[in-house]
Amino acid sequence: MQISGHCQCGNISFNLECSPGPTGVPARACVCSFCSVHKCVWTSFADAKLAVQIQNREWLERHTFATETAEFHICKQCGDVPFVTSLIDGNLFAAVNVNVLQGLSPGFLQRAQVDFEGEGLDARLERRRQAWIADVTITDTLSSVA
Ligand SMILES: [Zn+2]
Repeated sequence: MQISGHCQCGNISFNLECSPGPTGVPARACVCSFCSVHKCVWTSFADAKLAVQIQNREWLERHTFATETAEFHICKQCGDVPFVTSLIDGNLFAAVNVNVLQGLSPGFLQRAQVDFEGEGLDARLERRRQAWIADVTITDTLSSVA
């Protein structure tokens, strides 16, 4: 199925192609300091395809902290955090924030709370490698015009 998502102001949008199966879309509420404050609830499918479009890169802020292996992409205009990426061995992996997904019925979300504090770096990267979206493209819509 195709799921679209965008930040409130639409500066960052994406299309997610995935096959959730009957149990629905996993929605992992991360309890870390960043995700709690920004109310990030993540989903990802290893076999999904994510195509991100960014209208104005000047409104995009990237935030890293702690192990600095994940980059949170924040829209400076509206404050939403539509997706997060992690570069592992030269491959870009991503997870998307279910709060910016459009047209999904809440009942289709399989909510869980996750706490990765104390997880070692290797385990962290291995978890992302297995669970995060491995097919990620990020396109600037403005630069293609300029
Ligand atoms: Zn925005």
